[in-house]
Amino acid sequence: MTICVVGHSNPDTDSVTSAIALAELMKAQGADVKACMQIDAAGLNPESKMVLDRFGLATPEELRDAAGKKIALVDFSDIAQAPANITSAEVVTVVDHHKIGDITTNNPILFRSEPVGCTGTVLNKMFKDAGIKIPKNIAGGMLAAILSDTVNFKSPTCTPDDKAAVADLKIVAGIKDTEELFMAMLKAKSSVAGVPAKDLLFRDYKDFDMKGKKVGVGQLELAALDQVADIRDDLLKEMKKVKADGRHSVLLMLTDVVKEGTDLVVISDDPALIETAFNAKLSGTSMWIDGMMSRKKQTVPNLQKAFGC
Ligand code: MG
Ligand code: MG
Ligand code: MG
Repeated sequence: MTICVVGHSNPDTDSVTSAIALAELMKAQGADVKACMQIDAAGLNPESKMVLDRFGLATPEELRDAAGKKIALVDFSDIAQAPANITSAEVVTVVDHHKIGDITTNNPILFRSEPVGCTGTVLNKMFKDAGIKIPKNIAGGMLAAILSDTVNFKSPTCTPDDKAAVADLKIVAGIKDTEELFMAMLKAKSSVAGVPAKDLLFRDYKDFDMKGKKVGVGQLELAALDQVADIRDDLLKEMKKVKADGRHSVLLMLTDVVKEGTDLVVISDDPALIETAFNAKLSGTSMWIDGMMSRKKQTVPNLQKAFGC
C-alpha cells in the first residue's frame, strides 16, 4: 500500500514542502510513497503556492480521509490537526518540531522530533544521515519553509540548527540571496491586490470588550506600507461602517514586517484615549508605532490599560 505523507490541516509552507521532502527521502530508501496535503489545490495559501511555483515542485495530492491508509506525518502529531479517521489509519513515520501530540501507534515507528524552528531542518539532517542527496528543487522548498517558519530567523523559535540547514540548502538549491526569497514569500503572503477592503479589514479581526466599550482591532501583515497606499480611503470607509455598528473604536494595525512596526489606523469616539494608550500622536487617522508587531502581546494590553480594564 502506498504511504501518504501529510502535514497538518490548514497547511503552511513547512507542512507542504516537508511532505514532498520526506516522500522523496522514503522513496530513495525504497518505499512506495507519495506527498499529500489536507487541502484542495485551489485553497493552498498564496505563500506556499508561490514556493511550489518558484521551485517547480508538484502540488501534493489532496488527502481528506485517512481511514485504512498508511500515513507518515510531518510538522504535527496531533489528532486534531490530522485528516479524518486518522485513528483507523496506520501511522508509520512522524517527523516534527512541535510538542509531541496525541497520535498513538500499535507498532514501533520512526519518530523523529527535534526542538528546532522547522521540520525542514530535521529533514535536512535525515537526508544527511541517510547519505542521500536532496534534489535541487526540493532543497529550495525546504529552505523556503525554514525562512517561513523562523520568519527569516527573527522568530524566538529559530535555532542555530535552522541557520546551519539554510547554509547547507542554499548550496544544494543554488540560491544566493535568501533575503530576496523571503521578501518574495512575504509579498505573496501579504498580497492585497484585488481583495475588497472589507475582506482585508476582516482578514484577521477581533472585537474586545474594554470596560463595557466594544473595540475592534484588525491586523494586516505587510512587506511594505505602500502595498495599501491606494486603498487606505476604502479601508477607512469600511472601518467607519464597522464602528457605526455599536463600537467605541475600530483600529487597524498595518504592520510592516520588515521595518518591525505598525502604522495604526484609528477610528474612535475618543482618539486622545487611543493616543494615550500607545504614547503616540495621530497624524490624521493614523500613527506609526515602532516595534508594534503583536495584537495579543502589545496592542490589546496597552488598550486595556488605557481603558482602565
Ligand atoms: Mg506548520
Ligand atoms: Mg513547521
Ligand atoms: Mg508555521
